[in-house]
Amino acid sequence: MIELIKGDITKLEVDVIVNAANRSLLGGGGVDGAIHRAAGRELLEECKSLNGCNTGEAEITAGYKLPAGHIIHTVGPVWHGGSRSEDSLLKNCYMNSMRLAKENNLKTIAFPNISTGVYHFPKARAANIAIDAVMGFLAATDFPEKVYFVCFDKENYNLYRDLLDA
Ligand code: ADP
Repeated sequence: MIELIKGDITKLEVDVIVNAANRSLLGGGGVDGAIHRAAGRELLEECKSLNGCNTGEAEITAGYKLPAGHIIHTVGPVWHGGSRSEDSLLKNCYMNSMRLAKENNLKTIAFPNISTGVYHFPKARAANIAIDAVMGFLAATDFPEKVYFVCFDKENYNLYRDLLDA
């Protein structure tokens, strides 16, 4: 039900990929920039109509030129040291994305390592939260059927490999 992948999330042929967006939803660096570049200009047009998104929440769009059919845009918390509800906000990103996938009957979903790039969330702490949230959600439902954790950097990949093997 859970699979670990090392690589570029924009290449995946899944029902939906998750974007680690910012509150404007108008694109940015990192995985957000890669998704906007791969999906094309039409994605930006649809994102403009959404009028932004709060931290921890999620919105869905079409996938346009991506091999994935849809994109769920969620806004991870910026790490400020842990006292600004960063843990629960990051959990909300995963839970709200899973919920949105379920509501849209999407069977396969791929997550990047939300907030662990320029938002500086500690990687091991983020990996534990991500895995707990997804496993908790999957235990209570049979949809989505398959969840991919897509790690772009080796450090995240090794963390997820160790946690998922345990
Ligand atoms: P955030 O602002 O939420 O920290 P970033 O995009 O800076 O978002 O980083 C989130 C994670 O996405 C990082 O672990 C980074 O290595 C990873 N990442 C960057 N590009 C890609 C990509 N093309 N596919 C999958 N993951 C990516």
